[in-house]
Amino acid sequence: MLALSKLSDLPPLKDLLIEHDLWAKKSLGQNFLLDPNITETIAKKALINDRVVLEIGPGPGGLTRGLLNHGAKQVFAVEKDVRCIHLLQSLVSASEGRLHLIEKDALKFKLSDFVTEYSLDAPFHIVANLPYNIGTQLLLNWFKDLDWIGSMTLMFQKEVAERMVATPGTDAYGRLSILCQYLCMCKIIMHLPPSAFTPAPKVHSAVIQLVPKKLSDEEKKLLPLLERVTALAFGQRRKMLKSSLKSLLKENEIEALGISPTMRPEELALDSFLKICKKLI
Ligand code: SAM
Repeated sequence: MLALSKLSDLPPLKDLLIEHDLWAKKSLGQNFLLDPNITETIAKKALINDRVVLEIGPGPGGLTRGLLNHGAKQVFAVEKDVRCIHLLQSLVSASEGRLHLIEKDALKFKLSDFVTEYSLDAPFHIVANLPYNIGTQLLLNWFKDLDWIGSMTLMFQKEVAERMVATPGTDAYGRLSILCQYLCMCKIIMHLPPSAFTPAPKVHSAVIQLVPKKLSDEEKKLLPLLERVTALAFGQRRKMLKSSLKSLLKENEIEALGISPTMRPEELALDSFLKICKKLI
């Protein structure tokens, strides 16, 4: 292989995949983005200029190249597949010290350890085309460490992204909508068809951007309660609140909050869920 000194000298991703005989593994959710127009657009929309970026699952590095091209100060990329780690070595050289690979399972990767190990003193930004099978779990894990995070620009299955931004009264509205919207400003910034990926998945995708809100300590303390109340309410989605929340509140207590006990959870806005949580403190 030639010594490559610049990002612009790198061969197309397709050539690298062939050279390294790297074929997508379904078990690792590998649906690669090989079109630089797409990866450059995502990187451009991410809020990363001169920022530290954490990328989960760089794969063959298309999005990683975009992040480096669009001014990321440093990119730390966590990848489980050692084949990708080998393939990415030419990008590490071309990045001139800005790309750091971390061979690890993202589910076991603790943000607090990351901040300590690399002595980060400002919030970092997470950007990722996430493996669909673990995407939601990763996001819920990161919700516990939002103080470190400046923004998250993440690819999900379209229906999952739509649940995050859903409003009351819609089918997509549920626990994920409430938790995301309590903690973050959320918007879908891009839709992608299956044909954008190699191999093409069966589903459509969307990139969502989540910017953590500045919550007070009091507001942060409500999170475990909000998790509990929404789990109970949406665990029995068809039931009225007086029935699904009966282990927490009596019917008249719900009514005293100005909430009808006969409502179903999908009719209830975030504010009403917060009223319930505050009553339980
Ligand atoms: N970022 C690349 C792109 O856009 O072409 C690849 C995205 S692909 C959807 C998901 C990537 O996450 C793959 O590279 C896969 O190997 C990696 N991955 C899957 N499970 C992982 C895990 N538990 N921890 C870290 N990386 C993982």
